[in-house]
Amino acid sequence: MVDDFINNKLSSQDSCYKNIVVPALARAFDNVSEMQHLLCNHVELRVLNNCKEAPYTVCQGSGQPPAVFMDWYGRVEDLLCLAHETAHALQMLLSKNELMPPVARETCAFIGELLLLDYVKAYLAQLHASLLDVWHGQNGFYLGDCVEVLTDALNHSEISYHYYQNYPLARLAAVQMFCATDNKSVSALFSSGREAMAYLPIDEMASFDIGVRNPLPVLPPSDAEQPAVDAYRSLGIMALLDVESGSKASYQKIESYYLNCLKNLQERTAFIALDNDNKPVGYATWVESNSDNNVVLTCQTALPNNRINLQRALEHHVNITKDVKASYMRKASKERLVW
Ligand SMILES: [Zn+2]
Repeated sequence: MVDDFINNKLSSQDSCYKNIVVPALARAFDNVSEMQHLLCNHVELRVLNNCKEAPYTVCQGSGQPPAVFMDWYGRVEDLLCLAHETAHALQMLLSKNELMPPVARETCAFIGELLLLDYVKAYLAQLHASLLDVWHGQNGFYLGDCVEVLTDALNHSEISYHYYQNYPLARLAAVQMFCATDNKSVSALFSSGREAMAYLPIDEMASFDIGVRNPLPVLPPSDAEQPAVDAYRSLGIMALLDVESGSKASYQKIESYYLNCLKNLQERTAFIALDNDNKPVGYATWVESNSDNNVVLTCQTALPNNRINLQRALEHHVNITKDVKASYMRKASKERLVW
């Protein structure tokens, strides 16, 4: 029933645009009908024709309507994408085509997504759960993968700029603005053009105590009399860290997972980093090659916000005179040194 409702509602891009996205965005502004008019008459919807490009919105110059390029398959994620791109178009129109810094531009687009969620919750309740699911799923990319890309760039000056670096801050700024400000602030941001960074709630975000606590238990002092207990504790901690951080290792078969961890513990090629309260924050494993005295990391698992802590602790632990190379590839760049 719900699926039929969704398929039916989302079959036409034009109707979704006029009947869902436009009213969802327009109601965040005091001059609702003016916004509706602008969105209905001054934005072009174009197709990408299945080429593998990601959807995007371009400014076509002053006096020209911005153009949204995307393909429509009638899926819930297409509706979310349409709201994102339409918010870009609206920000271009209201800023009179003045270029906005990328973090601010993406904040506007993410606010567009939140406005859609809010509108759907109020007026199309049957669609809300699946839309919220898609939005949550995309947080894995914007606040997971993209945070790693940003952290790497902050720690390694040789890494070149990637647009993904803008997404984490923008995603959080959008939520902050959506939850804690009024129509006037949203409207001011969308109209602000190149000065847009001044309209983001950075100070509020910086002073906000998010109170992220380490959920893992305190590690008891090791027992020299019973080394086997220590080994099992270490195994348990590695498993907890993998589960807690959503690492791929936690999807392995239990037998091979156990044997791998055990081998690393026996060969003393595993390391667990603890925080000041003696709670585990991450672990790493590696292989040593005798021929060139190299250490190659085979796994680095850390709780959110603890990758750097793990790395620093590891630097102390492993003999730094050895060459240490990451053994995995990242999307944003080729294989590289981890420190
Ligand atoms: Zn965007």
